[in-house]
Amino acid sequence: MSKKAVYFFGDGKAQGHAGMKNLLGGKGANLAEMSSLGIPVPAGYTITTEMCTLYYENKGRLPKALVEEAAKALRRVERSMGKKFGSTENALLLSVRSGARTSMPGMMDTVLNIGLTSKTIPGLIRKTGDARFVYDAYRRLIMMYADVVMEKAAGIESKDGHSIREKLEAALESMKEERGITEDKDLSAEDLEQLSKQFKKMVKRTLNTNFPDDAEKQLWGSIRAVFQSWNGRRAIAYRKIEGIPGDWGTAVNVQAMVFGNMGEGSATGVAFTRNPATGENAFFGEWLENAQGEDVVAGTRTPSPLNKATKTPETRRMKSLEEAEPKLYAQLDRIRLKLEKHYKDMQDIEFTIEEGSLWMLQTRTGKRTGGAAIRMAVEMKKSKLIDKKTAIMRVHPNQLDELLHPMLDPKAERNAVTLAKGLPAGPGGGVGKIVFTADDAERFSKEGKKVILVRNETSPEDVHGMHVAEAILTAKGGMTSHAALVARGWGKCCVVGCSDLTIDAQKKTLRVDGRVLHELDWLSINGSTGQVHLGKLDVLPAQPGKNKWYKELMSWADQTRQLNVRTNAETPDDAKQAVIFGAEGIGLARTEHMFFEPERIVHMREMILAEDEETRRKAVMKLLPFQKKDFLGIFKAMAGKPVTIRLLDPPLHEFLTLTADQVTVLANKLGIDQQKIHERIRLLHELNPMLGHRGCRLGISYPEITEMQAQAIFEAAAELTKKKVKVLPEIMVPLVGHANEFIHQEAIIRKAARDVMKKYKIKIKYLVGTMIEIPRACLVADKIAVDAEFFSFGTNDLTQMGFGYSRDDAGTFLPDYFERGILDQDPFQTLDQEGIGQLVEMGVEKGRSTRPDLKIGICGEHGGDPESVKFCHRIGLDYVSCSPFRVPIARFAAAQAAIESPR
Ligand code: ADP
Ligand code: MG
Ligand code: MG
Repeated sequence: MSKKAVYFFGDGKAQGHAGMKNLLGGKGANLAEMSSLGIPVPAGYTITTEMCTLYYENKGRLPKALVEEAAKALRRVERSMGKKFGSTENALLLSVRSGARTSMPGMMDTVLNIGLTSKTIPGLIRKTGDARFVYDAYRRLIMMYADVVMEKAAGIESKDGHSIREKLEAALESMKEERGITEDKDLSAEDLEQLSKQFKKMVKRTLNTNFPDDAEKQLWGSIRAVFQSWNGRRAIAYRKIEGIPGDWGTAVNVQAMVFGNMGEGSATGVAFTRNPATGENAFFGEWLENAQGEDVVAGTRTPSPLNKATKTPETRRMKSLEEAEPKLYAQLDRIRLKLEKHYKDMQDIEFTIEEGSLWMLQTRTGKRTGGAAIRMAVEMKKSKLIDKKTAIMRVHPNQLDELLHPMLDPKAERNAVTLAKGLPAGPGGGVGKIVFTADDAERFSKEGKKVILVRNETSPEDVHGMHVAEAILTAKGGMTSHAALVARGWGKCCVVGCSDLTIDAQKKTLRVDGRVLHELDWLSINGSTGQVHLGKLDVLPAQPGKNKWYKELMSWADQTRQLNVRTNAETPDDAKQAVIFGAEGIGLARTEHMFFEPERIVHMREMILAEDEETRRKAVMKLLPFQKKDFLGIFKAMAGKPVTIRLLDPPLHEFLTLTADQVTVLANKLGIDQQKIHERIRLLHELNPMLGHRGCRLGISYPEITEMQAQAIFEAAAELTKKKVKVLPEIMVPLVGHANEFIHQEAIIRKAARDVMKKYKIKIKYLVGTMIEIPRACLVADKIAVDAEFFSFGTNDLTQMGFGYSRDDAGTFLPDYFERGILDQDPFQTLDQEGIGQLVEMGVEKGRSTRPDLKIGICGEHGGDPESVKFCHRIGLDYVSCSPFRVPIARFAAAQAAIESPR
């Protein structure tokens, strides 16, 4: 079978298009699209992702079709650019760029200036009359090639801990020091020529191979390196975090070079068609005069703002492209509008100006903060660029999380010692202890410490540490630096380009504002303003209701969704917070946590220790007033919205983990013998408490517990009803696996209801239902539904018992499962639709077969996980219930589900 291996683009034409991302990668597909749109793109060709897969299947041999088609495409590029690859007179130089289906910022490496050799250099110097430029390009090629191709792709680990890139950079720095200059651009042609020679020697000495002095070798070496880097450590780490499958492969783009480093009339830049941090509809970007693209992204020089409108106090004095090159800026602005209109989304673009000509090098859908995503979606809908459904689909439910994230307390900030200010690259507040390496970040965070990763700049090597950090702070780089891009993608607090910081990563010190900070000192960072404060400041909860775009988008979501959203809450405060976040009821109020307060736990323990019914009943009834007070508070907070209360669930011995001292105190308080307490505890001990005496089994052994709880619920309901406060209790029996268990408990509950209604002389509307969390309950759901008025799937326990994984012990083996690809998601976080999902579906189907109007919800962790919410919508649940802070996320995921699969 012969597959097309290579797709040409250039001269306003292209063989591929934007719809071919799977085959051409994101970058290649969009280069083709831009070319077809008549936007100036340097000619080139894209090698398909299939060739990457073939390359691995062939154990590293290049497919024959690839070699042949690439040669043909190269001729076409040469014709288009009027230059020849490897020519001694008029050499074409190339870039080799990777591009997977979805953008993986900085993950795969680019090699620029390919084709510079001892044969081509003299001709190029003659042609350009600019030896400085040629040697500048050459030293960059050697560095990139040595780093990407000869070291990383070859899998070489440096023996002294310093990569070849670090060594070459050190040589560059020491040359600048010798010359007494600080900027690369002040190095002369001779300096750069000498540096190139030195680089080549260092490469040979360190890596034992010569830097190839042959254009073709450089080209194919780079192409192979891109293939190799797909399975490099960094790429694998990133894919794991982002959940990108390993078998997609990467495409390779081979493209004619254009030069931003040909002197004053040349430049390079990166821009967003709208502001990626705030979402404002303003052209936003950065540019550097006389530089190659990597200079902007690497953060080695701090770039200037693109236009006047986006200058900040810090960049006020820098010259914008709009001021320096008004005509080119206007052309770029036109391209910006064309791209937005075409792609109907915010684009992240890369451009280069070579001696007054503008070239586009990349466009892709831009990463944005959650706040920006929301604002853009709403504004694009209002300007009719997209419709309402598209607007809702534009925002990932998890992005709302950022708006729901805490900020630094402004009062605390005013009084804080502000050490420095950088660029606000990722919003929200971050408070933590400083660390200087990604590995340290990972290590300390595993110990439960909150850390802030402080670096000069970040690179893809740092992603694991960036991921676990509360916030990221860098001394260098702009709003489009690696740190900024990655942090924004994750919605993480981040400040970059904070040039007042002097970081010594070796000594682990941070000098700033006349102070020296050490590892694990506290810092507080405001990612929305860029300020860095000393110490540990207070944080404030989020107030998404103050954001008008958020409110508008959520109102669209609420109009769209069909699934109700409730919350898991057991205190009036939590309940109120959840209502503010849009909860439509409580799906799970656990009652056991209500017994842990010191004055209550004594009675609880007394009850557990009781050896006969009478003593037990006496102790239990002491708890009644407390329970009643709890329910009064919750019912009031919910004001007539349904409240599902789960009866006592955990194994009793959880209340009896006592130290010897506590036993003494308890014995004195209750006036019983210490020995007796110890004995009772021994008796209550279970080998498998999770499968032991818990849930409705307790209420069956000790009916007075159920009696007391039901009485407390109905008395609270009765008292409020008398005061004209609406209440809607739903009493839930936990851990039912057999219909008879439910019938037994239901009788007690209904009797309590009758007694209370008689006593108060009123009627209370209520439901009695059960939690479905034991696999057997799903199998006999039709029988349970004869009596139960509602089901709520407890998917935590259902997952635990369905898989047979102890939730408390799964941490010991699940990491191995992820590592070996046996599972790709944690079933306790995202519902296992394939297996456990079948149990849920069966429960729904069987339950409704006996009781068509059976109300069904879910109340496990999964209720706040977008994928699981979508599943619940598809199988016809009435509601999901999740923690208060996940409520908006669940509402939004439900809206997306309704769009994706209307029911
Ligand atoms: P990334 O995926 O990390 O963004 P790119 O392939 O876009 O990597 O390359 C990084 C930078 O290299 C680009 O921003 C661009 O400035 C520069 N570059 C890549 N190809 C060319 C080219 N053909 N001409 C000029 N510069 C290029
Ligand atoms: Mg790029
Ligand atoms: Mg349970």
